[in-house]
Amino acid sequence: MSRSVLVTGGNRGIGLAIARAFADAGDKVAITYRSGEPAALQQEGFLAVKCDITDSEQVDQAYKEIEAEHGPVEVLVANAGVTKDQLLMRMSEDDFTSVLDTNLTGAFRVVKRANRAMLRARKGRVVLISSVVGLYGGPGQANYAASKAGLVGFARSLARELGSRNITFNVVAPGFVDTDMTKVLTDEQREAIVKQVPLGRYAKPEEIAATVRFLASDDASYITGAVIPVDGGLGMGH
Ligand code: NDP
Repeated sequence: MSRSVLVTGGNRGIGLAIARAFADAGDKVAITYRSGEPAALQQEGFLAVKCDITDSEQVDQAYKEIEAEHGPVEVLVANAGVTKDQLLMRMSEDDFTSVLDTNLTGAFRVVKRANRAMLRARKGRVVLISSVVGLYGGPGQANYAASKAGLVGFARSLARELGSRNITFNVVAPGFVDTDMTKVLTDEQREAIVKQVPLGRYAKPEEIAATVRFLASDDASYITGAVIPVDGGLGMGH
């Protein structure tokens, strides 16, 4: 059955891999983008909707467009996220609040808007993209880690609140993945990270996408409030 799927930040990186995984399975996939041109994404068959998730009006408008084209969103993947790494001494209040506003409050905005139709349908799947750093911590990443840990409490509260409505909320916590986000790391930093990863390498975006697709599938019908690491073993025990 072809479902209406929304992936925020689906124009590149992990989000694009997730969007492709759902499209390959025959779902109708909408993606949000902020930057760049949507032509190539549209050619791939995605409904590309411009939306900055820090703005509730834009989120509402994006949902209206998606609902008109694909029907109410049945599977939501809150993937859009940013980093603004900085040591605490140098981290400005804006560095902190802007990362929270995108990664955590942004997820709140898109989940809240999706919830309306999911409640009506008495079913829904929500997958939030967190990070190994959320529970493991990362020097220079207090803002990012706080936002990603926040997603766990957010998802688990909603899993309890809305389980009776057959809506599941799960968190995927990737380790280090080859995307634009990690391109900013130096070769030295990259080597140091890889040394700590039992599988000895970065993840490919498709490896994150496979887990997300599973959590939205019928095979995962009894899984909610879970935090699934896809991190090559980096965060074991956290
Ligand atoms: P990228 O930097 O490659 O992509 C980030 C995506 O988020 C882009 O699509 C970007 O849109 C979108 N985005 C950022 N801010 C906003 C906003 N305000 N409104 C709408 N969209 C926004 O990152 P990745 O693909 O690597 O990361 C995807 C997710 O996975 C993030 O949540 C990240 O924290 C998480 N993650 C990544 C890891 C990694 O190693 N790469 C590890 C663990 C978690 P635009 O193109 O318009 O800027």
